[in-house]
Amino acid sequence: MCVGGRLYGAGVQLRYRYRVYPTPGQQDMLVRSFGCARVVFNDALRARQDAYAAGVRLSDTAVQKQVVTEAKRTPARVWLGEVSSVVLVQACQDARRAYRNWFESLSGKRKGRRVGAPRFRSRKDTRQSIRLTRNGFSVRDNRTLYIAKVGELKVAWSRELPSEPSSVTVIKDSAGRYFASFVVETTDEPMPELDSEVGIDLGLTTFAVLSDGKVIESPKFFRRAERKLRKAQQNLSRKEKGSNNRAKARIKVARAHARVADARSEWAHTQSTMIIRENQAVFVEDLCVAGLARTRLAKSVHDAGWAMFTRLLEEKAARYGRTFVKVDRWFPSSQLCSVCGVRDGRKPLSVRVWTCLGCGVVHDRDLNAARNILAAGRAERRNACGETVSLPA
Ligand SMILES: [Zn+2]
Repeated sequence: MCVGGRLYGAGVQLRYRYRVYPTPGQQDMLVRSFGCARVVFNDALRARQDAYAAGVRLSDTAVQKQVVTEAKRTPARVWLGEVSSVVLVQACQDARRAYRNWFESLSGKRKGRRVGAPRFRSRKDTRQSIRLTRNGFSVRDNRTLYIAKVGELKVAWSRELPSEPSSVTVIKDSAGRYFASFVVETTDEPMPELDSEVGIDLGLTTFAVLSDGKVIESPKFFRRAERKLRKAQQNLSRKEKGSNNRAKARIKVARAHARVADARSEWAHTQSTMIIRENQAVFVEDLCVAGLARTRLAKSVHDAGWAMFTRLLEEKAARYGRTFVKVDRWFPSSQLCSVCGVRDGRKPLSVRVWTCLGCGVVHDRDLNAARNILAAGRAERRNACGETVSLPA
């Protein structure tokens, strides 16, 4: 049998994020850890690039030895010893993964969206983070989060962790807030099986249209929040570079961004849970190829919303034993009749309803697209299971 979603062993990896409130002293130590992680990440990346340019094979342990163990003994890097070594080793691993993803993407070994060359981290990056595995952190009985060399952090536990986390990332975002993001392995019971399957067409006028006819409207508060964000951004652009007022305006923009993100996240959770509960299989078009005529602002805003929505669908599908398939939109879903398969030319976005020249059925543009995605998703799934596939005519 074919199972959708991404399964990791027995369970599924999920992220749980909480706000944390470090004291000024702890913030100081965290900032120092961010800095050390950044330096090790960059050193590791450079070591790999240099080795590659020189045609030398460098093992992972050799890189780690060079940029962590040996670096600590040099006067230029002696301060690396002040922070937890777990942080340094993880930074080294992150560099390794970034480098490898890029390499495998170049060689075609890695599927999906092209991965760019790994970017060196900068002290000017507004988002800073460290990652720790089990030996670098623990959740204490007093409900604090202990981080090696930093101490016990106060956490706002907005929901319970379902089980022991395997790693944590401590983040300082561009609004100056701190978060702990835990990776948790869950082993939920699958939901009872259903017959219903659904294709989802993501749109601009409406957020999404489902092949069963359900329509998910874009929530109004996005527009309101976006207007506020735009105003904050305009305000920022008018401030003089390097001024105090500019720094304040930047934080305002970051806060506006954060509010949009929080609202969108909560809404996406509700919508995705509903779809996963009601359907055994969910098919969504691949966002890489979903680009249509959109303005840049609309694009950025919608892409962010869609990406989160599809990621949640994928996570929840894996968690509850549902199938999730991303459909490569190799066919023009708005040109193809979902009833008879006749293809009758491009239609401008303003055409919402059209009549098929082949069979005479009157189609709603988005609903027809969603039905095509459902059919393509079913075909792709059969393909993945090793059966022969007949593509729509
Ligand atoms: Zn037709």
